[in-house]
Amino acid sequence: MLNSSYQPVKMVSWQRALILWFQGKVEVVEYHTEVARSARAEFQIPSVLRLKRYVNQRRFARVKFCRENVYRRDNFTCQYCGKNFHPRDLTLDHVVPASRSGRKDWTNMVTACRRCNHRKANRTPLAAGMPLLNEPRVPAWLPPLETASRWESLPASWKVYLGEDPADESKGATG
Ligand SMILES: [Zn+2]
Repeated sequence: MLNSSYQPVKMVSWQRALILWFQGKVEVVEYHTEVARSARAEFQIPSVLRLKRYVNQRRFARVKFCRENVYRRDNFTCQYCGKNFHPRDLTLDHVVPASRSGRKDWTNMVTACRRCNHRKANRTPLAAGMPLLNEPRVPAWLPPLETASRWESLPASWKVYLGEDPADESKGATG
């Protein structure tokens, strides 16, 4: 779902999408090829919605801060060595160590593999000589779990609104 300004604000189920559409709160920007059938009618399922009225971003539920969601934001990729891991082999790393009053929040917690976390220890990335691949940000949205590590599996119609392929961005980053 997009704001009236075309900024992505939230992911909604297709059922919710139909309800919002019937309530007249959104306009449909793009459709899926699939249709939903009820006893009496058939509806083409919306793929991209746009709110008719601008809604302050703060009104949308924030993405809950938790271990799993940090992994998802970071694409299950260690933010130091850039490798992909199974969640069981990942850890959360305080960018600024807790011992130096680094906070446990979206902007100070990143996904790290056990090896990098151990190597970095109680140091800042600068002191450890381990620069971060991406600046940790508060996510506006998260992809569904099953597509989290697969940008290419997101519907093509969404990518236009979500911006650059995150993989391309990391390729451009210098280590
Ligand atoms: Zn690593």
